[in-house]
Amino acid sequence: MRRFVKSAPALLLLLLAANAFAIPRHLPVPGGVAVLDIPDLDGAAPTATYNGNRVLVTMAGDRCVAVVGLPLSTKPGEKILELTGLKGTRARMTFVVDKKDYETQHLTITNKRMVDPTAEDLVRIGKERKRISAALEKWTEQPAVQTELMRPLAGPQSSPFGLRRFYNKQPRSPHSGMDIAADEGTPIVAAGAGTISETGGYFFNGNTVFIDHGQGLTTMYCHMSEITVEPGQTIQQGDVIGLVGMTGRVTGPHLHWSVTLNDARIDPALFLPAESHATTETP
Ligand SMILES: [Zn+2]
Repeated sequence: MRRFVKSAPALLLLLLAANAFAIPRHLPVPGGVAVLDIPDLDGAAPTATYNGNRVLVTMAGDRCVAVVGLPLSTKPGEKILELTGLKGTRARMTFVVDKKDYETQHLTITNKRMVDPTAEDLVRIGKERKRISAALEKWTEQPAVQTELMRPLAGPQSSPFGLRRFYNKQPRSPHSGMDIAADEGTPIVAAGAGTISETGGYFFNGNTVFIDHGQGLTTMYCHMSEITVEPGQTIQQGDVIGLVGMTGRVTGPHLHWSVTLNDARIDPALFLPAESHATTETP
């Protein structure tokens, strides 16, 4: 990558070099992240796409890397990262996604509508899904992305990422975030710097805040009792964005926190400093 450092245009180098944040852990499994060294094209860092979605590109020391989010639905095997230079030169890189088996979890929801929504609920859920998808698919050019996140809440991890879930014995989508249990009203803070891209009260997710950190990195915070920020607001890491609640589909007060990269929900723990991986897990 030294060749890149010498040949990159000064401005681009300055912009990319400004990212002094730690890079997430390389764990190429479904729900994980592939951190891939990429070459310069047309004399500069290229843009990268995976499955048609733009991918975060940043500097890790003097290496230029693509940080690729891998959806939970990814089939293990060889995958392709597409690279495009400033002048249109194209290149392809291959990498391998390994297998990972996640555990199964059974939950009992007493509010039956949260498991078998009515026809009216389904109309509402459909509309909300569009807004939620738009917030999660958002791409914002941002040279220095805060790729090292902090836990948005102290407290035990009550349910890890990736669990294969059954609600009242019916199979549902796997757990696409990390749950942290805390008393109702406990402040929730922004995991990283960014802009509030969307807020709302949703059928399943309850009161929710989305933070756009740039280059397809988005964090989502659900089930709040109260939202204390507004769309468009600039936010720093550690700023309070709302309070823990039990709105939406819940079994008790907690924060559901998700991390999205290139429209893939991935394990938030990969973005936390190593010391905060140690959490108390309850069944
Ligand atoms: Zn959750």
